[in-house]
Amino acid sequence: MNCPYCGYHDSRVLDSREVNEGIRRRRQCLECNARFTTYERLQPASLFVSKKDKRREEFNKNKLLTGIRKACEKRPLPTDTVDKLADDIEAELYSQSRAEIPSSVIGDMVMKRLRSLDHIAYIRFASVYREFTDITALKREIDTLVTDEVGESSPTAQLPLLPAEELEIEAKRSQGSRK
Ligand SMILES: [Zn+2]
Repeated sequence: MNCPYCGYHDSRVLDSREVNEGIRRRRQCLECNARFTTYERLQPASLFVSKKDKRREEFNKNKLLTGIRKACEKRPLPTDTVDKLADDIEAELYSQSRAEIPSSVIGDMVMKRLRSLDHIAYIRFASVYREFTDITALKREIDTLVTDEVGESSPTAQLPLLPAEELEIEAKRSQGSRK
């Protein structure tokens, strides 16, 4: 299996485990150190994605990864987290043992995960995937995020929009006002 990034022919196996009657191997390229995943199966399952315009094409994880990476560009997320997101989705898709999956299902899977990971990346992905045609639709989506955040009782793992010290000041201020 050649490295999908640089084409080098050899890689090191970092981790392998059995999944759905196959073996999933996490590999690292010996040349460029990029990490990627291979699946080994007796009979390779081919998975097709059906698009909105009824076209079908073979599932392409790199395409999925490119879309997610683009949404996460310059966000403070480790590359591993982004790669793992694509890995998880791929594994989940194959675990469903379906021959064909609508692209909307895959898009929703990405949105669901990005939403709990990073709101900015989520909005970026959503704006491409949902094809927001005007600013009102975009605002509506952002409003639902803000509403959800206010409604949550415990702080989430979201990356703060404010630096830590500002959040501390905020917390002290609200504690003070409660007395
Ligand atoms: Zn490589």
